[in-house]
Amino acid sequence: MSKSIPPISYLSPAAEADNNENIDIFDRAKSYGVEEFHLKHDAATGLKAVVAIHGPHRGPALGGTRCLTYPTVDHALYDAARLARAMSFKSAFAGLHYSGGKGVLIRPAQIQNADAYFESYGAFIDSLGGRFITAVDVGTSVDDMNIIARRTKHVLSTSVSHGDPSLFTARGLVRGILAAVKNRLNRDDIEGLHIGVQGVGKVGFHLVYLLHQQGAKITISEKNDEVARQCIDNFGATRVGTNKVYGIDCDVLSPCALGGVINDATVHQIKARVICGAANNQLTSDRHGDILHKKKIFYVPDYVVNAGGLIHVALGETKQSQAAITGIYNAVTDIYQRSESTKEPSHRAANRIAEQIISESKPRSVFV
Ligand code: NAD
Repeated sequence: MSKSIPPISYLSPAAEADNNENIDIFDRAKSYGVEEFHLKHDAATGLKAVVAIHGPHRGPALGGTRCLTYPTVDHALYDAARLARAMSFKSAFAGLHYSGGKGVLIRPAQIQNADAYFESYGAFIDSLGGRFITAVDVGTSVDDMNIIARRTKHVLSTSVSHGDPSLFTARGLVRGILAAVKNRLNRDDIEGLHIGVQGVGKVGFHLVYLLHQQGAKITISEKNDEVARQCIDNFGATRVGTNKVYGIDCDVLSPCALGGVINDATVHQIKARVICGAANNQLTSDRHGDILHKKKIFYVPDYVVNAGGLIHVALGETKQSQAAITGIYNAVTDIYQRSESTKEPSHRAANRIAEQIISESKPRSVFV
């Protein structure tokens, strides 16, 4: 069990404040195109689980499971719904025949018995009969997936099936950053560019390593002193406080911690000309993407650029997966060019492309 990961809330405080609507579960589903919510409560282990499946159904829904504290159950439903939609869009861009799904575990103050807790969740996933296949996400680890795998075969990123995908997410992210700086800054490489990275956990740490190899100047913000220290010592990074990261005078800002970090409190602080990070659902709402567009900041849609991990868990370490991760460069270029020619903000251009791919692809049975 991921004992080293402290229980954190999934959204920045400003984004939580933005999510104060009191709407029912079906409105929640409708807002994000979610066709199914599955809920499980197991009093014996403290398990409170939500699985959201985005429609239309194109095959099994694939998506990670996160385990975090949430202020209310509605916040968990909101997180699951938005993430399931993002997973659908991510699969569509990556050319994968999966629907989008997400597992959200409302983390109790203390998990008394991690084996029983994750086995119970594994049995719940199994009861869905293959409609949902899961993998690691924030607050879960490969060890947790190994426990889940005792009760279901519908789990990836175990130690025997592709492991932790974070390095592959970081590799895809570098491809996205290269494409974004080529298009927005007319630069062929990132040598000497100043890149701000928010969160140097599983993805952010690999990212900082890769950026350092390519000669970037790196500033980080991170809550965990130990990993921050490693980035400073090994990659020459400079560290700023968690509230200072938005205002760094950098070329690229790479949010790799939380969702909802681009919000009313932060959007006007950003000086970078490119935002390209791994965190899911960085924009608190579409309105915040529109503001970035007006400010001529190229926002690279998160679900396009953080697809490397999903591609890895779906296809393994194969030529096909390598090509798909490399292809993130072309997808980012395509979005930039469409946004330039139509004057449409990049997040809206990307959503339209994803919705078109989904509407054109044929549904696939869960059983083949
Ligand atoms: P992680 O939990 O390993 O890392 C997140 C890091 O952010 C932690 O080190 C944490 O201390 C830090 N952090 C939390 N709040 C912070 C704050 N306010 N300011 C600065 N640092 C803060 O998670 P991860 O697996 O690296 O994923 C990071 C993000 O990328 C998540 O949003 C996740 O959903 C997304 N993502 C991850 C993958 C993957 O392969 N792991 C794939 C796609 C998307």
